[in-house]
Amino acid sequence: MEIILENGVHYRTRLVPLYRAGSFARCVSGNARFDGAYVVESRQAKHPLRRWLVIYQPASDTRQAFLLDRQRQKRIDKATEEGRYYQFMLDKEGGVLVWRCHSASGEEYTLTANSCTCPDHEQVGGAGIRCKHRVELENRLAEERGRRAEDAWVDAQWARIEDAESAWGCDPGAEF
Ligand SMILES: [Zn+2]
Repeated sequence: MEIILENGVHYRTRLVPLYRAGSFARCVSGNARFDGAYVVESRQAKHPLRRWLVIYQPASDTRQAFLLDRQRQKRIDKATEEGRYYQFMLDKEGGVLVWRCHSASGEEYTLTANSCTCPDHEQVGGAGIRCKHRVELENRLAEERGRRAEDAWVDAQWARIEDAESAWGCDPGAEF
């Protein structure tokens, strides 16, 4: 399993008793392929003994970059899969422009240029990963900008044609 903290992607074990977490953490610390093994107590553990987990990271920067990319890609894929069902509405909150997103699951989230109120953003935003809502919103804004740029280009061509026509002394729109 993987979890994402501000300093990147970490591996995490399942919940185990403290002595097992301790010996696993020692094992990981002795392996040059991994960094920073920490034993952490889970706040959600229901079992009286199995309440500990170990988190650790790959030591290699290349491997870390690969894991981050894979986490980014997951959200891009999710946005491709279900993003077309999201509805975005522009709104104002305390004088700031925000986007309200009505998600596929029926939840409503509020987005700004670099935040979203969904639980995933809270977890992965600090590591520079965009949640699926931000991915989809940015795709739509890019599409919209693309459309406007095309419209502006077409308008500019018409303006040039009309200028040329009036320079030749003919009436734009006149029929011959
Ligand atoms: Zn989100």
